[in-house]
Amino acid sequence: MKCRNRVLLLPLVVILALALVVPASLAQQRRLVTIASGWVVGVYYPLAGAMSRIVYKVKDLNLRATVESSGASVANAQLIGTGDADFALLQNDIAFYAYNGVTLSAFKDKPIKNMGAIFTIYPELVHVVATKASGIKTVKELRGRRVVLGPQGSGTEANALQILEAYGLKESDLKAERIDAAAAADQIKDGRVDAGFFTTGMGSAVILDTFISGKVALVTVDGAEAEAMKKKYPFYTSVKVPANTYKDQAEATTVAVMAMMVARSDLPEDLVYKFTKAIFDDLKQFHEAHSAAKSLTLETALAGNPIPLHPGAARFYKEKGILR
Ligand code: GLU
Repeated sequence: MKCRNRVLLLPLVVILALALVVPASLAQQRRLVTIASGWVVGVYYPLAGAMSRIVYKVKDLNLRATVESSGASVANAQLIGTGDADFALLQNDIAFYAYNGVTLSAFKDKPIKNMGAIFTIYPELVHVVATKASGIKTVKELRGRRVVLGPQGSGTEANALQILEAYGLKESDLKAERIDAAAAADQIKDGRVDAGFFTTGMGSAVILDTFISGKVALVTVDGAEAEAMKKKYPFYTSVKVPANTYKDQAEATTVAVMAMMVARSDLPEDLVYKFTKAIFDDLKQFHEAHSAAKSLTLETALAGNPIPLHPGAARFYKEKGILR
């Protein structure tokens, strides 16, 4: 009896096994790509997640995009350079330095040419967040204080060092730390550090979170120093953070760069064309991913782009009459 049961069970087992294996093998036919994003508590990460979901639905693209969190811009450019990422979000200033092998030691004499632009998205504001207890009101007052310059491999870190330089400060003039953005926010809230730099979109979760504590304020980046810095590093623009963008926050001025999307230049033209088209065909879902994402429009998709377009993206913009 026992034996007969086994015989009867066998076809069932085979069917069950097939049921498990067939969809998996179909899924495997999808091309796997990675999108290097940024901080889980930032804007890149939710945006990359939205892009992954949007492209997954496109039948003739047959893509599965996995999203990786990272320190962000500098690391992401390097991941593109080594072929460890297929797509990446990064700041336009960092994209320029990377592509041309200039300004930052990470890229000097090591240009990353294998990188093509897809679109620029939204301004990323350098949020300089200080604890109220520290009494810090200006960049100059960061001297001697414990300050998070950003995560290792971030664009934030590069911005922090350029801003300090503009105000006559060197890294050695303060107690500088490099830690990830979520940890930086925790340390600011706990008063373990006096201030931190965060280059991220307006309304970024990490900034909302620090302001909910009621213990922080924004430090302005303006005046003659900021003007001189914009001349030296022309990617910066001045941006106002309206009052109460964050809980009980007073109006402040700071500098901003642009977030942008890139792909490895050697990714097939057709793939990047379809990827770009998929995003613009479903802008609604993209916009819903974060308030900052609403800045992506076809008309502004090339504004502030400092590197050559990926041929697949170029084809899409030509078709739309945005590019000749
Ligand atoms: N722009 C940031 C950086 O490269 C990342 C911001 C984010 O993840 O929202 O440092």
